[in-house]
Amino acid sequence: MPKGGSFMIIKNETMKALYADDFSRFMSEAGLLESFEKGELRCRYCGLPVERKTLHALVPTSKSWEMCCIKPKCIINFAEDGGNEN
Ligand SMILES: [Zn+2]
Repeated sequence: MPKGGSFMIIKNETMKALYADDFSRFMSEAGLLESFEKGELRCRYCGLPVERKTLHALVPTSKSWEMCCIKPKCIINFAEDGGNEN
């Protein structure tokens, strides 16, 4: 079982869980860590800034990654979001 708030999901061909330790490395490699730490990354669905404790998932796009926050509405949108390229 993941500890509270310590993991997030990547939506890809297969759903993957990414744990906190890997998360910083992952974001750093994606060039997103600094923006994320500054609160500059926003939820793909509701547009609000996402931070670590409100991050539900990462959504791959053609150029980079987008965030999905933990609002139930956003999680539903995320689950129903079949397309990766918009
Ligand atoms: Zn949201």
